[in-house]
Amino acid sequence: MDSSDTIAAISTPPGAGGIGIIRMSGPASLPLLKRIFQPLDSGCAFDSHRLYYGRIVHPEEKKDLDEVLAVFMAAPKTYTREDVVEIHCHGNFLVLQSILELLISLGVRLADPGEFTKLAYLNGRIDLTRAEAVIDILSARTRKGMDMALDQLGGSLYHQVDVIRRSLVEMRAVVEVAIDFPDEDIEIVQYASLVAKVNEEVRVPLERLLRHAEDGRIFREGISVVIVGLPNVGKSSLLNTLLQEERALVTAIPGTTRDTIEEYLDIRGVPVRIVDTAGIRQGAGEVEMMGIERARKQIDQADLVLFMLDAERGISREDRVLLESVRHKPLLLVSNKSDLAGTELDLTPLDLAEEVPSVAISAKEQHGIEELKNAIFKVVVGGREQWQEEGCAPNVRHKAALAAAREAALRLRQGLEVRVTSDLLAIDLQDCLEQLNEIVGVTTTEDVLDLIFEQFCLGK
Ligand code: GDP
Repeated sequence: MDSSDTIAAISTPPGAGGIGIIRMSGPASLPLLKRIFQPLDSGCAFDSHRLYYGRIVHPEEKKDLDEVLAVFMAAPKTYTREDVVEIHCHGNFLVLQSILELLISLGVRLADPGEFTKLAYLNGRIDLTRAEAVIDILSARTRKGMDMALDQLGGSLYHQVDVIRRSLVEMRAVVEVAIDFPDEDIEIVQYASLVAKVNEEVRVPLERLLRHAEDGRIFREGISVVIVGLPNVGKSSLLNTLLQEERALVTAIPGTTRDTIEEYLDIRGVPVRIVDTAGIRQGAGEVEMMGIERARKQIDQADLVLFMLDAERGISREDRVLLESVRHKPLLLVSNKSDLAGTELDLTPLDLAEEVPSVAISAKEQHGIEELKNAIFKVVVGGREQWQEEGCAPNVRHKAALAAAREAALRLRQGLEVRVTSDLLAIDLQDCLEQLNEIVGVTTTEDVLDLIFEQFCLGK
């Protein structure tokens, strides 16, 4: 990345839309805009942050490319902290493409995915956790996931990590004095107060953040639930009932060769992907084997298995055999067709050792569906619904660094307890600090940055 480059990309999604936006960032943004934009108002002064109406005209061919609104935003009050131009065209991909090609023919470089946000990070406008929040906002599947991402963009994770970093820096100052003046090694009283400080200001907050990492996974990535049951227990009926009621946003996930469309339910803010295994049967014919293999894979990857029974038919030997194959997974028993069964299904023949939650429903009459959703939520989220209070949900990358920081903090505490020398303490302190610096992006390697920013779509 060269700071003298001017980059551009189409920032709106492909396909027809009311408006399509081309964004440009870099020192040539304004001169280039002036070359291709003919304002309606001849007195147009290209004031910063003002929208102007006019046409994009090819400077050599004098050909009209579109009627647009254009805005120049002078650095540093911009997304990238560089000069930025946005051209708001009609939302037709051909129009956008022709204007982008014109800019490229005039020397602009096509932006890499996420490059605008990367510039915002490299130019110090946002830290790395906020840059990652932008990805989360773009890909959030539920309102709750979106709220979480917005909190992170507001700095919730940054601030919590920063408070810990400051404590470590304070402690480092104490330890460094001892290194510089070895005769006045850390006093006994300081050892004790440092142990307390490591516990209260480093270990406990790190552990709290680590607990929230699981919330982050659930609300950000969602969970996968598989419906398992014998043929005709009502699996497809349940799937249809759930999808009719609570179909979550349909997301096209970029980056795959063929854009995959996945369907999610929104169960109290958790994106839930539900898979119907279409009835695994023992001793099925060869033709069915492939389907069965796939079903087994889905079961292995699932966070939860909804094990469906037919309350009218009762529990058979086949039910019990099938249950054996999923016993190792977190289970929720669903006894269906409650409208046909006079009484509640007796689950004792299943011979379940421990307490497995169960819900009675009628997929057909849509009874008990709310209870089922609550039960799903309870099983996967459990008591961990506190991220809202603290507004923080670390992702996988943060989690790894937090865990490493916690390890370093534990070593540090132990070192203090047995009073190792200051230079050894300094090593663990520094190690802990560096892990936290990685999270906010103070020291982050180019490889990690590449991994983060390649998750973005073009134009962001
Ligand atoms: P699958 O083979 O497990 O996917 O089962 P289906 O969803 O295809 O359902 C099998 C049959 O049971 C269909 O005729 C459904 O209409 C019926 N069915 C499913 N759920 C219920 C229910 O709650 N009550 C009643 N009365 N019938 C149901």
